[in-house]
Amino acid sequence: MTTAAAVPDLASFVDGEWRRGGRQASDTNPAHPSEVVAQYALADAETATQAVAAASAAFAAWRATPAPARGEILRKAAALLDERAADIGRDLTREEGKTLPEGIRETQLSANILRYFASQTLDPDGDMYPSSKANVLLYTRREPLGVVSVITPWNFPICIAAWKIAPALAFGNTVVWKPAELVPLTAANFLKTLVDAGLPQGVLNLVLGKGSEVGDVMTTHPDVVGISFTGSNAVGRALQAKAAAKGKRVQLELGGKNPAIVLADADLDLAAEQVARGAFLAAGQKCTATSRVIVERSVLGGLVDRLTAHANGWKLGDPLAPDTIVGPVVSEQQLGTVLGYLDRAKSDGARVVAGGGRADGDLADGYFVKPTVLSGVKSSDTVFREEIFGPVAAVIAVDSFDEAIAMANDTRYGLSASIFTRDLGRALRFADRIRSGIVKVNSETAGVEYHVPFGGTKESSSGSREQGKAAREFFTEWKTVYINIP
Ligand code: ADP
Repeated sequence: MTTAAAVPDLASFVDGEWRRGGRQASDTNPAHPSEVVAQYALADAETATQAVAAASAAFAAWRATPAPARGEILRKAAALLDERAADIGRDLTREEGKTLPEGIRETQLSANILRYFASQTLDPDGDMYPSSKANVLLYTRREPLGVVSVITPWNFPICIAAWKIAPALAFGNTVVWKPAELVPLTAANFLKTLVDAGLPQGVLNLVLGKGSEVGDVMTTHPDVVGISFTGSNAVGRALQAKAAAKGKRVQLELGGKNPAIVLADADLDLAAEQVARGAFLAAGQKCTATSRVIVERSVLGGLVDRLTAHANGWKLGDPLAPDTIVGPVVSEQQLGTVLGYLDRAKSDGARVVAGGGRADGDLADGYFVKPTVLSGVKSSDTVFREEIFGPVAAVIAVDSFDEAIAMANDTRYGLSASIFTRDLGRALRFADRIRSGIVKVNSETAGVEYHVPFGGTKESSSGSREQGKAAREFFTEWKTVYINIP
């Protein structure tokens, strides 16, 4: 492994100080795994405990800070993010592997998320009620919870952090944040914008550690009141069980196995392009990625041909190169998982129409998986049932609209679902009958807006929602005040 001279040296940030020293870990580039993007000091449980203590100590003053003043800091951080978007986006691309335009856009989106939650600090935070007693002033307020732990994944390393941390801070909580181990540089970059914007000491603490080492402190410490987590079902559910046993409030955003239905009357060019975007962009590593493509039999050939043309035509390559559309998957482990699913699909009898394995030639060193289209898949196949998190579209034919809906719903997940049709009635019936937190008509399953609720049904979430007005529900609790006016 080579380490270039200017490799950043990162650390956890606790109570306003960088905690350097101790065990070191390397952050590498998935397109060129021998390239070290950053070094960082690995936090242990003691550092996590100190982070909780710092957040706890900072809570009273932050809670007492007028909400609009908290919003002002978020607004300043947003301006800094915009100013630094080209550099932060580039760092994001180098450590996570999405393309440079995607890395920069994600940074800019995060700035918008900060501004959106800054504006919510001016919204009403309670209601006035008529009392049934004379001379009683009866009102409610939403108050912050206290210390919240925020645990984020690597696939949207800045914007998932923003959509949890911004409302947590805006509504008066203090935060202990553990990003995924694969993306410490983006995490440090995001934290610095908030610190440079004037966030007081201890209000946001960054813990760069392994889930297995710092996770228990973050989820079971007596001073932690709430936990907002995005990641895998296995980790999320285990964490929920432990935290719930301690009476904590838990929000989980978990996996998806998102269907796109293509009906016979669909605009096939549009459908194929949108399905390809949902399945292949960001190398399929979105919880809202399109994974199951359910097609009315009469248009199966037309759809598969068009989808295959995108899979073969979209440039797979270094995510910093201007013509690249699809970059690598994030890590060697992720590569192994995706290739394992492809092997399983082949042995289950699926036909590889495009892609089907790791890229070779110039890309052989990186974690590149060719955009893959599988046909002849059965609904019982593993590749049709489990989340893959790679650039893979599994196509299946159906004979009717009703069969398509039944198949789309035949999954333990329920995050996002789309349909392609020109029939308004069917589009509306789909929106009604699909069991999914997000519904799209004539567009890809991925891609969401921050001012509306985000989250899934069934095993895709804990049932709560993030973003939009829903964020306040998780990060605050009601207080009801009865004032007897003598
Ligand atoms: P992914 O498949 O997206 O990597 P994970 O569930 O493995 O999903 O990771 C999501 C986040 O949860 C990461 O920040 C990871 O470090 C963290 N994590 C992993 N194990 C634990 C744990 N035992 N407790 C708390 N957080 C954990």
